[in-house]
Amino acid sequence: MGEHHDAMAAEAVEFCSALIHIDSTNTGDPATTGDGESRCAEYIQSLLAEFGLEGELLEKAAGRGNLVVRMKGSDPDAPALLVHGHTDVVPANRADWTMDPFSGEVNDGFVWGRGAVDMKDMLAMTVAAVRQLRRENFVPQRDIVFAFVADEEIAGEFGAQFLVDEHPDLFHGVTEAIGEIGGFSLQVRDDLRLYLLGVAEKGVAWATLTARGTTGHGSIVPNGSNAVARLSSALARISEHKWPVVRSASLSALVEQLGGALGRPLDIERLDDELASLGLLAAMLLPGLRTSTVPTQFYAGYKTNVVPGTATATVDCRIAPGTDDEFKKQFMDLLGPGIEVSWEDGRSLEAPARGALLETMQTAITAVDPAGKALPFVMSGATDAKAFSQLGINCYGFSPLRLPEGFDFAGMFHGIDERVPVAAIHAGTRILHRFLSAQ
Ligand SMILES: [Zn+2]
Repeated sequence: MGEHHDAMAAEAVEFCSALIHIDSTNTGDPATTGDGESRCAEYIQSLLAEFGLEGELLEKAAGRGNLVVRMKGSDPDAPALLVHGHTDVVPANRADWTMDPFSGEVNDGFVWGRGAVDMKDMLAMTVAAVRQLRRENFVPQRDIVFAFVADEEIAGEFGAQFLVDEHPDLFHGVTEAIGEIGGFSLQVRDDLRLYLLGVAEKGVAWATLTARGTTGHGSIVPNGSNAVARLSSALARISEHKWPVVRSASLSALVEQLGGALGRPLDIERLDDELASLGLLAAMLLPGLRTSTVPTQFYAGYKTNVVPGTATATVDCRIAPGTDDEFKKQFMDLLGPGIEVSWEDGRSLEAPARGALLETMQTAITAVDPAGKALPFVMSGATDAKAFSQLGINCYGFSPLRLPEGFDFAGMFHGIDERVPVAAIHAGTRILHRFLSAQ
């Protein structure tokens, strides 16, 4: 703690604001995605270079910069840690916002703007913590690799996936990683704030379904060979299916530790009810319990009295950890015959939900927030961890933020008036600094 840590925390806020001010919108279309990611990477590079850390800038395409910096440890044989974050943000429509989404304004106790929680806050906290570690002449025991990457919001083709495919040597020796999403707190009582640590990530499988049938006049072709009818009844079965709770190692750690934190054991047979009673916590924890299959788009036909020959639909499937293979078989069984499926997918991930790294996170949290208790959870979204895990790295969601009671953190992601409390960044930077000091 102390004054120099106040300076570190202030720098984190300043850097967060400055990064938001660099518009790094990723539209998914190369024609309209500018060079904001490279400008963010160059800005971070200059902040670290002031403290003698020279990184490497890598671009798969002009403007889509990635910065990778290795902080050497004293033991070259020790397995290394990766700290990663993405510089790109999703689009923001100025007209919907109270303030300019790219102002980075600090106002009313918040840093405002696109990327405030997703995830320029973490980039800024990381840079501020590293600068502080250098001021302290800290040398970690193991190497720490920092990766500031482009293109997370689309598929990582220009970011994490590019680095993993074309520059895997940059991650030599890395066995563990921290990044989004996790490390934020949810207040349960005055004396209990749960910091959710991402230990697993659901699989993502986007299905495109196609049904084919007999085309013809609406007064003649019967329902039995009607593509629209067949596909819609299959979608109804998928949508109504109640997927079972998957008792992964992450879930059992969660149940045990949540019970410990609340001071009463949870009934695993009634987990939905148990979690539903926990308010904001429920929204974060419930999706991790089981697979979900949600129909999202449907296309067929062009005229009321013409039966179309095909109908297509998309389903957003999120698969509980460790069940990727059996899921697809069950999904096909639910669909029934006569429907073709194509997949675009990324497998689920699960890192150990107990161990030294998680204990270090808890120690760092406790040092800054004595009411803070770490809780492993299953992330429902997909992140760059999907790419880094291809290198055999155990990935954790740990971007620490101490949030005020009732703050709608989940609603901030990709939301209008995205903002992050200044106090949350202050505490988060201290937690991160403490965590990195123990590496
Ligand atoms: Zn993100």
